[in-house]
Amino acid sequence: MKVLIIDDSSDALALAKVRLGKENLAIITAQSGDEGLKLAEAEKPDLILLDVDMPEMSGFDVCHQLKTNKDLCMTPVIFLTGSDNTEDKIKGLNVGAVDYVTKPFDAFELKARVNAALRTKRMQDLLIEYANIDPLTGIPNRRALTERLRKEWMRVQRHGGKLSFIMADIDHFKKVNDTYGHSIGDEVLQRVAKAISSQCREIDLPARFGGEEFAIVVPGESAEGAGKLAERCRQATSDVQINLGTEDVHVTASFGIAEVSDSPSVEALVKAADEALYHAKQSGRNQVSTDTSPEETAKK
Ligand code: GH3
Ligand code: MG
Ligand code: MG
Repeated sequence: MKVLIIDDSSDALALAKVRLGKENLAIITAQSGDEGLKLAEAEKPDLILLDVDMPEMSGFDVCHQLKTNKDLCMTPVIFLTGSDNTEDKIKGLNVGAVDYVTKPFDAFELKARVNAALRTKRMQDLLIEYANIDPLTGIPNRRALTERLRKEWMRVQRHGGKLSFIMADIDHFKKVNDTYGHSIGDEVLQRVAKAISSQCREIDLPARFGGEEFAIVVPGESAEGAGKLAERCRQATSDVQINLGTEDVHVTASFGIAEVSDSPSVEALVKAADEALYHAKQSGRNQVSTDTSPEETAKK
């Protein structure tokens, strides 16, 4: 794990580095609050050791900035304080630090406190991961999808660019469960999740939307570009084959696509993709649709 030490004293930095040297940690250092904040942003450390007493920007100010930055607010901070300054210790904890170590630090105490903070950080990372992954398929869940979609939406509003959203739904999936049983149904969901994910680029976000529905956030693409991805996913889904000895299980899926330029909000974008999916179902399933006109028009 990576530890960032921010201290204006090069002696203190060198000492902390030596003290933590044998702990199998990647240690990076900064000699001012400003430099430390930039390094934290770039390196995303697992723990920050922060000197209270620094010229220009104090440790408290640095901690305040860390705690109000959404990318860094979860990074634990341990303050390095003067030995008998109770006020600093209390203030440090109140601005969001998890612990403090008094200077000059005892080697064993420093290691023990750093390791305790890292244990908690590891647990926190694991919980965040569990909260965002669908346990059956191992791909991101709806919560992760919604968060990413909102982020990409904001990015497009602020900086322009393209963004599309794909909704997919396995065709007649109830029949798979009814015919082969729930556990084969589960296996189909796992294999389809894998098939869809395998077609996505690093920046796309494929997710299980719920039940037998999947969705993909496609940054940087218009409906046309996302359509090509959806078509590859459709093909990959129909290629899924589960061998039961006597027969093979096959499925197909329908896809709906919408792009940001046609939607005034995130909710409208999701709704439009869902409407396009409805059109794909209405037109015979196992196909991709970008038709987001309301259902009434489709029925006419
Ligand atoms: P359509 O082509 O119109 O989408 O038909 P469908 O049968 O796929 O749609 P329907 O909504 O009627 O059925 C979805 C089924 O998906 C019903 C539900 O039991 C099943 N399902 C949802 N989640 C899971 C799951 O985690 N595992 C399994 N095995 N089945 C699931
Ligand atoms: Mg469904
Ligand atoms: Mg379905």
